[in-house]
Amino acid sequence: MSLKGKSAIVTGSTSGIGQAIAEAFAAEGCNVMLNGFGDQAAIAKLREDMAKKNGVRVEYNGADMSKPAQIADLVAKSQAAFGGVDILVNNAGIQFTAPIEEFPPEKWDAIIAINLSATFHAIHAALPAMKAKKWGRIINIASTHGLVASAHKVAYVAAKHGIIGLTKVVGIECADSGVTCNAICPGWVLTPLVQAQIEARAKAENITVEKANRDLLAEKQPQLQFTKPEQIAALAIFLTSDAASNMQGTQLVSDGGWTAQ
Ligand code: NAD
Repeated sequence: MSLKGKSAIVTGSTSGIGQAIAEAFAAEGCNVMLNGFGDQAAIAKLREDMAKKNGVRVEYNGADMSKPAQIADLVAKSQAAFGGVDILVNNAGIQFTAPIEEFPPEKWDAIIAINLSATFHAIHAALPAMKAKKWGRIINIASTHGLVASAHKVAYVAAKHGIIGLTKVVGIECADSGVTCNAICPGWVLTPLVQAQIEARAKAENITVEKANRDLLAEKQPQLQFTKPEQIAALAIFLTSDAASNMQGTQLVSDGGWTAQ
């Protein structure tokens, strides 16, 4: 199935997994609304290159996903720009690690706002038009941390478990409406979000970044390989296909065996 003529919002698409998903949708002929932070000139170039390469419209909205009013505006502006939003990918996310006793409450609030509540607000705004059109795809980027826990990630693990629960509820509420809502659970993917954790680990343990890299994988992923952003993007494309039309409220996991153990 081609996505020609359809339109997608991909939150947090100026980097990492979100950018790969936006590129994959554009390559399928889908118009894309980019979102996320970053250098404005770099974002403008990303947008132009993606549009030119794929012959689609690529717009950008810098909504801060911790702000409900800005999320509603992102959805409204996307609907106005493209004449509707068919696909919503809730991907923007941040990380912070510390034992719970030392976990700053403001970091808890920020992670819950961006990694969990933003998904509620975006779906709340986008779903009525999808239901009216009798077609829509909502894809929530959760994590293995939506299924299992690791120490020092209390806010992230709580938010991602919340995403799995939210996905189930929205899936049930969307049943038989032409709209599906599913989650993707990546294990380690080498993006700036994980690179920061590897560098922090190298520093804390006084080891090289290469060793920290290997240790990180060995600890969790028997395949000893990072999942690639493009592999997550391919799963997102699959979830929009007819082959996935009966998948509802569930998860696709790509974690190198992490949660099989
Ligand atoms: P990343 O740091 O490369 O990208 C995060 C994106 O979110 C960026 O575009 C950033 O600008 C945007 N963002 C952050 N705060 C924002 C805000 N307040 N408003 C708008 N945009 C904001 O990270 P990534 O690894 O590509 O992560 C993307 C998603 O994948 C996250 O939800 C993350 O939890 C999830 N994930 C990542 C991994 C991994 O190993 N990298 C594993 C599982 C799940």
